Amino acid sequence: MKSVVPIDTTNYELYVGCQDMKNTTSIEIDVERFPIFDAHTHFSQAYLDQVMACYTRCGVTAGVVIQGYNDHALSFEEFLIAMQQRDLLKRWAPCYWPNWAEFGWQPEAFVERLVGDLHRFSAMGCRALKVWKDLGMFIVHPDGFPATMDDPRLRPIWDTVAKLGLAVWVHQADPSNHFVTRTGLSREELYERRNRVIAAYPHIRFVLCHNGNDIESVAKFSAVFDRFPNTMSDINRDFLLHDSLEDTRNFITRYADRLMFGPDNTMPNNRPPDVPWSWNDLYLPWRKKIVSWGLDPETFHKFTWATGANFFSK
Ligand SMILES: [Zn+2]
Repeated sequence: MKSVVPIDTTNYELYVGCQDMKNTTSIEIDVERFPIFDAHTHFSQAYLDQVMACYTRCGVTAGVVIQGYNDHALSFEEFLIAMQQRDLLKRWAPCYWPNWAEFGWQPEAFVERLVGDLHRFSAMGCRALKVWKDLGMFIVHPDGFPATMDDPRLRPIWDTVAKLGLAVWVHQADPSNHFVTRTGLSREELYERRNRVIAAYPHIRFVLCHNGNDIESVAKFSAVFDRFPNTMSDINRDFLLHDSLEDTRNFITRYADRLMFGPDNTMPNNRPPDVPWSWNDLYLPWRKKIVSWGLDPETFHKFTWATGANFFSK
C-alpha cells in the first residue's frame, strides 16, 4: 500500500484536487501521489460498488471500516464476503462493532458469542474490534451497576483479541462540552477504566478514536501517548481551536507514526453515496485544513497515508 512517489506538499492544488480553488466540485486528484488512508469510516455492503467509486473520486483509496452494530439488520459476515468477492480486503481493514448492550443484560452469553465471532470473522479478514462509548456511559447491568470496559468478565475478549492479533478501536467518554452519561460515571473514571485495560494488555494496539474523546490539548494528548506505547489515534480534531499552530505541528511531527487521519464519514444505506456531498462536506475541507498545518512532506505523508497503510502489515 506504500505510495512510491515522493510527496511534495507545496503542490497544494493537486492534493486538494481542484485546478480552480473556487470551483470545489471539480475533483481531479492524483491518487497515486496524494492518496488518503481513512482510519475511521463507516459503510456496509449496501451500494458497495458505488461507495468504492465515491471514495476513489475523493482520493480515499484505503482505510479502516467500522461496521456491525450501526447496521444491525445487515450481517457482518455478509459484509466480509462482499468485501472479499471484490478483492477489497487488501486495501480496507474491517473492524467489527458488536452490540455492547447485550453485555449489560446477559454478560456471559455476550462474551461467549463475541469470542466465537472474533475467531470466525478474523479468519474471514476482520482486523479489529470496536469498543463504543455505550460501554461505560449508557449500559447498566440488571443489578444496577454500570457495564464498564475493565469488567473482569470481559477478559476472554481481550485475550482473544491478543491471540488473534487484532487491534482495538476504542471510543470511551466524550468531550466535556457534550458529555452525557446515564451510568453516573465521570469522564475521568471512564478514562481510568479504559487505561487499566490498555495497561494490562501491552501487546494489543489500542487506537483511541477521535483523538481519544477527547484530549483537550496536545500536551494532555502527548502524556497519554507517552504513558502507553501501545496506543495510537485516529484524528478528526480541529487542532487550531485548542492549540497554537506551532504546538500542533510539533505534536503531529513527533507522533506521526501513531496518528492517522479519520474523519468519521458514514456512507448511507438507503441510497448510493453522493460524491459532491462527501467531497464538499468532508474530504475537501479536511484536505485544506491538513495543508494549513504546514507539515513537512514526510509527516504529511505519514499522517494522511503511510501510518495507516502500514498499520496492518506490522
Ligand atoms: Zn465512527
